[in-house]
Order: sequence, then structure tokens, then C-alpha cells
Amino acid sequence: MADIIQLLPDHVANQIAAGEVVQRPASVVKELLENAIDAKATNIKLLVKDAGKTLIQVIDNGCGMSVTDARLSFERHATSKIRSADDLFQLNTKGFRGEALASIAAIAHVELKSKQEVDDVGTHLVIEGSDVISQEVTVTPVGTSIAVKNLFFNIPARRNFLKSNQVEFRHITDEFQRVAMAHPNVSFLLIHNGSELFNLPVSNFRQRIVNIFGSKTNERLVPVNEDTEVLKISGFVGKPEFAKKTRGEQFFFVNNRFIKSGYLNHAINAAFEGLLKDGTHASYFLNLDVPPETIDINIHPTKTEIKFDDEHTLYAIIRSAVKHSLGQFNIAPILDFERDANLDTPYGYKNKHAETPKIEVDRTFNPFQDKPSSGTQQSASFKSKSSGNWEGLYVDLESKGNKKQDLSNFEDIPFESTTKTSSLFEESTVEKSKTTFQLHNKYVISTIKSGMLVLDQNKAHQRVLYENYLQQLTLKESVSQQLLFPVLLHFSAHEIDIIKQVKGDLEHTGFIFSKFETDAVEISGVPINVPESEVNDVLEQVISDIQNDVPDSHFSAMDLLAKSMAKSLAIKTGQLLSNSEQEHLVNSLFACKEPNMSPNNKTTFITLSVDELDKKFN
Ligand code: ADP
Ligand code: MG
Repeated sequence: MADIIQLLPDHVANQIAAGEVVQRPASVVKELLENAIDAKATNIKLLVKDAGKTLIQVIDNGCGMSVTDARLSFERHATSKIRSADDLFQLNTKGFRGEALASIAAIAHVELKSKQEVDDVGTHLVIEGSDVISQEVTVTPVGTSIAVKNLFFNIPARRNFLKSNQVEFRHITDEFQRVAMAHPNVSFLLIHNGSELFNLPVSNFRQRIVNIFGSKTNERLVPVNEDTEVLKISGFVGKPEFAKKTRGEQFFFVNNRFIKSGYLNHAINAAFEGLLKDGTHASYFLNLDVPPETIDINIHPTKTEIKFDDEHTLYAIIRSAVKHSLGQFNIAPILDFERDANLDTPYGYKNKHAETPKIEVDRTFNPFQDKPSSGTQQSASFKSKSSGNWEGLYVDLESKGNKKQDLSNFEDIPFESTTKTSSLFEESTVEKSKTTFQLHNKYVISTIKSGMLVLDQNKAHQRVLYENYLQQLTLKESVSQQLLFPVLLHFSAHEIDIIKQVKGDLEHTGFIFSKFETDAVEISGVPINVPESEVNDVLEQVISDIQNDVPDSHFSAMDLLAKSMAKSLAIKTGQLLSNSEQEHLVNSLFACKEPNMSPNNKTTFITLSVDELDKKFN
């Protein structure tokens, strides 16, 4: 048989290699930014169009390339950064594999302009799919500009595989922020579709963090510093009370290179033990300087995972350094100055305030209804509660009498809606003459014809709010509550960007945005029923949910928003509910289209029939 093995042509080999190096536009951004850093640039501009699908351009003022180097830089394994394998253990550059430019040029239209200080003129090179289209002499400033257009133009499958612009651009900002944070001594600019998103002047590490994540970050940082023979740590951790619901702000830089390490992340968690609320994650921005020969960067093609010689020691040092800093912060008197004035409100007044809206929602109240059967009143807690309400009962009677007319109209509404409810509704129709009862400030129990109903108050309320918000969003029929004084909330530029993306939808729930600044947003109206004090939490939840689960269509964006707002505003587990609130919750739940599931598909209620109860007593 004839020989069948052939060497692959270069452009095919490059395309295959490109698959490893370039997964998405953000990979190109990372490689180009790192090349600019390696070229000792002090000023780097990143221009992006359509989340990098149309254009990614990096312009630096670094050392530039000679005519020959410019041409050679696009060859595979062409690098100026290492000469022998030994150099791998003394690396102080980002790149060293000599693959990035060759890979990028294999799958895109690339245009390079570069000039060195010593040369009078520069080089202009155009390459498309590994083919050199033109190479000319040109006038250009010292440094390098590389424009990458139409990424994956010759691999349609890869191009179709790209996510929405929103997702791809988020990956780009992630890469940009990581490089920018690792090099505060370099100024950076990021422009997307003509608008400037980040303009980061040369600064120290703390200022760089604040410039990226917003001015509110400054007061939240606790410095961490430790200098040992094997490891020098410098940087910051976030104060525990500002811990985020997303893992977004967690950064390790090892010798100025962003890395991911589950093991070292664990060291931080260990240091924060007992200080964080459930479901929140510590923020950290830590520079770890280690002798280059004690790490192996070669372990991962994109170099985000590295191998340390002695991980255990690093773990111990990081944990104790962070613990030490947190301890220092805890004993600092700053705590007293930052005390929340709300904490000083007398308990009784706080309670009163929380109960105000309860009266409004009592649609089912009937002054002529029978007293609850004596059987129910056996329960001690119930008894004390209902007797406590007697006084209020007469007050209510008066006001109810006046409003009798509209009340009776309102009462009919849930019944009109029975047509759209599922069959479950009929089964579990609440007998209006019976009272409800709250168990452990967590479950609401109500009687139904066949037996009893147990509602999870948080999940049930989430369902009610979710359907409410979804309806407002789709029908665009929100009610807004104007704020007397607009509130200014601080967010990072990136977070502001996310709010802007869903601004229209947020407005349909009732938000009114009066001003956008680079790191703040002014709100002059909020959805009805959203207390002013909750606005920040609601928006943080929305941002966090969008970051975790980037919606890819308008419908899923509305759905996510409705879920997110329902989650942050629903009655919490542990919250005491008045009788009328309990009843209102039961009624509202069964007026929902899908009462049996929370927006996140958790059971909202269970029923227990008399038959089942009978069996238990046999
Ligand atoms: P690597 O960075 O691993 O060496 P690349 O393919 O990214 O490989 O780049 C190849 C070479 O091209 C680099 O080693 C460097 O000499 C040169 N080069 C790339 N980008 C720049 C730049 N922005 N300024 C100066 N030289 C550059
Ligand atoms: Mg490189």
C-alpha cells in the first residue's frame, strides 16, 4: 500500500492550534493586551466593535517591531521571549509560546502597524487567513497597533458558536480588567462601539481597583500585606459585610499574572470563616509575588492555572495574613462611626412601621364572620395573638364600614380569575370562613375543604410577585412611586452598564432613572411596594442574577428580572405575618396562573387531606 501520512500545511496546522488559543473574542483581547505589556507599553488602548465579532484593536506605545520581526511574528513558534527551555523557569513575560499571532492570523483578517523608536518609518502588514496580502512601509507612531477583524470568518461553525454580544463582551471586560489590575502602572482605555467604558490613568493598585469597580469600593477594602521568603502578599480583601452574591470580585495575581486557583481561594474562605452571610462570597484583590523558579506557568494553554512548588505553605501564609488583616479591621473604631442609624430605632416603632401596609391588604376581613372554632384556639400562641387583635378589630370596623362599597368590588376579583387557574385551585379553594395560622414564622397553614394547606411563605410570595412583575413587564403597565428626594446609588462602571442594558425593562416595573453617571445612578421613582431602603438590594440582586445567567433574548431578560425582583422583595422566612397578611398571601397565591411552583420551580405549598390525617391516627 502507498504511504498515506503527510505533513499538514502550515495554515491548517495554525487553524488547529488556533482552536486551543482562541476560543472567543476575549481570548484575542487577552493575547494582544499581554503582547503590549510584554512590549513595555505604558499606554494601551483597546477598541472593540460588536463584542469583538467585527473588530478588536489594540494600540500600544511599546517597543514596536522591525520590518523583519513584524513579518516573523506571525509564524508559529516565533517568539522573542525565550530562547531555550531553561528560560521557561525564569519567565518575566506574559507570552512565550510564540503561537498567539500565528493562531489569530489563521482565523481572522489582521492588520498590523508597528514602528520602533530607532526607525524612521514603520511597517504595515495585512494578513487574511494566514496569507500575507500586503506588506508596505508606512508612517505610524512608535509602538504597535494590531486590528483583528471578522474573527472566525473561515470557520463558520466557530463563528455560529459564539454567544450573544452581551455574553462575549462580558468575557472581554473580564480579560481587560484582569490585565489592567495586574498593571496599574500602565494607562488603559476601553472603547466599545464608540463609547468609552474604562479610562484608567496610571495609578497605584488601590486606585486602579476603585477606578474599575466604582468609588464605593474604596471604603470597603481592607489592606493585606505580608512579606516572607517564599511569598510576598500585597493587596486587599473586601470587608465581610459587603460580600457579594456573585463570585465576581475575586482576583489572584501571581507575579502580575491573573490566575485561578480553587485551592488558594479556599485559603481565603478559611480566613473569612464565620464572617460571611450565607450565599455571599468574599471579594479579594491579592498580588502574590513568588520566585519565578518556584512556579510552572506552562501547565495550561491560556496560562490561567499555574503549578506552585509548595502550595501548602502558600495556603497557610495567605490564610493567616488575611485573618490578621480582618482581625485588625474588626477592632478598629471605625465600626462605631459607620453604625447604621436604623439600628437605634426603638424596637416598638420599628415594628409599627413594618405593619403599616397590612391593613390595606385585608380584603377578606368580615366583621360578621364566626369566631374561630374553640378547637383552633387551643394553641397558646394563636390565642395570645388573636386576643391582642381585639382592640384593632373595632378600629378596623369603622374604616371598613366607610370603604364597604369598594371593598366588596375588590373581593370579587379573585373569583373572576378562577377561569385561568389550574384544576388544583378548585381542589384547594380556601374556605373563607376559616382563619389561617403561621408556624415558626415560616409556614402559613390554612384549612381547605379536603383538609389543610401548608404554604411556604417565602416561596409562595415569590410566585405572587413574579407573576405580578412579569405581567407589568409584558404589558408595560407599571405603577411608579415618586421619591421625594432622588437617591444616588453607587455601582461600578460594569454594573452600571448592566443596569443600562435592562433599563427599559426596569422602567416597566416602575423604576424611574433620572441620571446615569459613570459610577452611579440616580433614581427618582421606584415600583410601588418597593421600600426605598430596599432599592439598592433589588438592583444588586438583578445585577448579580444577570451576571450569573446572562439572558440571551428579551423574553428571558424579562423573566430573569421578574424572578430577581421577586426573590429580593418576597416575604422572608422568619418574618412574622398578621392574620390578614396570611390570608392575603393564600388568596394571592391561588389567584396565580401557576400557584404550585415558585419561579425557581420549588414547591410553594402542600396539602394534607383529612384521609391522610385519619391514617396517621390509626
Ligand atoms: P509570544 O507572545 O508568545 O512571544 P506572540 O505570537 O503573541 O507570541 O507574539 C510573537 C512575537 O511578536 C512576540 O514574541 C514579540 O516579539 C512580537 N510582538 C507581538 N506583539 C507585539 C507588540 N504589541 N509590540 C512589540 N512586539 C510584539
Ligand atoms: Mg503573546
